[in-house]
Amino acid sequence: MFFKLKKIVKNGKVLKNEPLKNHTSFRIGGKAKFVVMPSSFEELINLLMYLNKKNVKYYVLGNGTNVLASDNGFKGVVIKLTLLNQIRLYKTYLQVFCGASLSAVCLFLKQHDLGGFEDAFGIPGTIGGAVKMNASAYNFETGKLVLGVLAIIDGTVKYLNHDECDFGYRKSAFKNAIILSVDFAITKGCNAKRMEEVIALRKTFQPLNLPSAGSVFKRVDGVPVSKMLDELGYKGKSVGGAKVSEKHAGFIVNFNNATEHDVKKLIAEIKAEVYKTKGIILEEEIKFF
Ligand SMILES: Cc1cc2nc3c(=O)[nH]c(=O)nc-3n(C[C@H](O)[C@H](O)[C@H](O)COP(=O)(O)OP(=O)(O)OC[C@H]3O[C@@H](n4cnc5c(N)ncnc54)[C@H](O)[C@@H]3O)c2cc1C
Repeated sequence: MFFKLKKIVKNGKVLKNEPLKNHTSFRIGGKAKFVVMPSSFEELINLLMYLNKKNVKYYVLGNGTNVLASDNGFKGVVIKLTLLNQIRLYKTYLQVFCGASLSAVCLFLKQHDLGGFEDAFGIPGTIGGAVKMNASAYNFETGKLVLGVLAIIDGTVKYLNHDECDFGYRKSAFKNAIILSVDFAITKGCNAKRMEEVIALRKTFQPLNLPSAGSVFKRVDGVPVSKMLDELGYKGKSVGGAKVSEKHAGFIVNFNNATEHDVKKLIAEIKAEVYKTKGIILEEEIKFF
């Protein structure tokens, strides 16, 4: 299969028996049978056709910053999209390919003195991941700037306009789709000072020195779960190599070779305690695979 994949993804990359910890910001995950990185939409579509024909299971990954990969790895193909990273500026909008990082978009806009993404500076994911998750930070919400999305939905390439994308809190219409490219509205003038401010805020309030996947749980009634976990004394609580960050109780960090098992056990303990004391069922924001 390796040579067939190489033939399809000629200019991209095919990695065999590849540790997923090398592709996730948590630095957790066993080996994937293959990690394949297409370099064009044509390669991606040919790859999908081949995998569907052969009934090979696959998982789509952007920058792996919102996922927890299994200790057992993945017995199929992980399709990593970070080589599909073009950013194109048109007269009235910006087109970004799925694998471009949010920070690259911010820097591109800064270079052209355009705005809209300042508050997204520092979110470590790709545009594909950000649109699927409707990533948000400070006054930025990905979906609000989306004009339309080109995606593979049920095996067909479709263009969804903003309203069809059905954006909500950490939600979009792309649950089972592959986002190819996204058109964004742009505004004149970049607030470069604001970009510096949000990076400073992130450094102050987030444990950026340790591997994590960002906030583990979704907000409850619009309130970050970190506040609740702090009140319950969860900061610093650990299971194996995973612990609730002392800096931001919404983050679980990998401080000492944590496994998926450690993180899941810690998540389960937190959920049980929150349910017992507050009657609230916490929902994970991070995706498991
Ligand atoms: C230190 C840190 C800080 C963070 N801060 C924030 C924050 O402020 N706000 C916020 O919202 N999030 C934050 N995150 C979480 C994360 O960065 C975002 O959710 C980001 O948008 C995920 O993008 P990704 O490319 O890494 O997605 P991945 O983690 O690779 O994937 C996430 C999900 O999207 C799917 N996916 C990825 N690409 C595509 C595609 N092209 N088409 C279809 N599905 C796709 C995957 O299958 C998976 O289900 C943070 C994470 C870390 C580690």
